[in-house]
Amino acid sequence: MISDKSLEKCQHCGTSSVLVESEVVIRIKELLQPNFKTLGTAVTVNGNRYHPICPSCDSYALGLDLVEAFPVLTQSGKITTVHELEKS
Ligand SMILES: [Zn+2]
Repeated sequence: MISDKSLEKCQHCGTSSVLVESEVVIRIKELLQPNFKTLGTAVTVNGNRYHPICPSCDSYALGLDLVEAFPVLTQSGKITTVHELEKS
């Protein structure tokens, strides 16, 4: 679904990157003000703007410590959260 090969794996840890909607990134910045380690430049998928991010290196920014983590899109097109990814 995503053709850019450079998005597929985190350059730091090799974990498969996920995509975060740009509007969600704005909410994350407002709420957590995290120092993103792996947030990439926006790409357009199915007409929406997404930023690739590593769910392992940036698990805190994705809401690991929150009761409800932020929605992320996996490369297979599934909407999930960092909590679900940690379980698998
Ligand atoms: Zn990583």
